[in-house]
Amino acid sequence: MPGPIDYAKIAIDPDPDMKDWWEATKQKKFLLRKCNDCGHKWFPPYPGCKKCSSTNIGWVESSGKGFVYTYNVVTQPILAHFVPAVPYSVAIVELEDGTNTDGSKTRIAGVVVDDADDVAIGLPTVLAWDDHPKQPYKIPRIKLAAKAAPGMWKFQG
Ligand SMILES: [Zn+2]
Repeated sequence: MPGPIDYAKIAIDPDPDMKDWWEATKQKKFLLRKCNDCGHKWFPPYPGCKKCSSTNIGWVESSGKGFVYTYNVVTQPILAHFVPAVPYSVAIVELEDGTNTDGSKTRIAGVVVDDADDVAIGLPTVLAWDDHPKQPYKIPRIKLAAKAAPGMWKFQG
């Protein structure tokens, strides 16, 4: 298990595009932006649809369940709050309920709860939520939902 992330060193100050998203984290809800015109879903929630350019957009809640699309192992963090956590992995996950009308998958990224040695491409994932010690927001993390099977791709340490 990676060490803890020192969230006390992070001040969450949502911009207008992220305000509703951060509010939803208080109930452990992971929201995706959804285009009301073409149905495309995306994250992070920038303010317009890249498929049809519409600004007629809303929110849809994701289960957060998905599969590891790719990942990296961090051994040299840039930000101070991650220093106690190294080595840890950051995964890009394709969401199970994030398939778009064009077949593309909505992807999210997050710090993995599990040991970096346990991560492999293709593993199923769920969300885990960390508390912030000074703010009411919850911080989503990626949690592995299975062990890697022989032959799955993983970094060789
Ligand atoms: Zn659209």
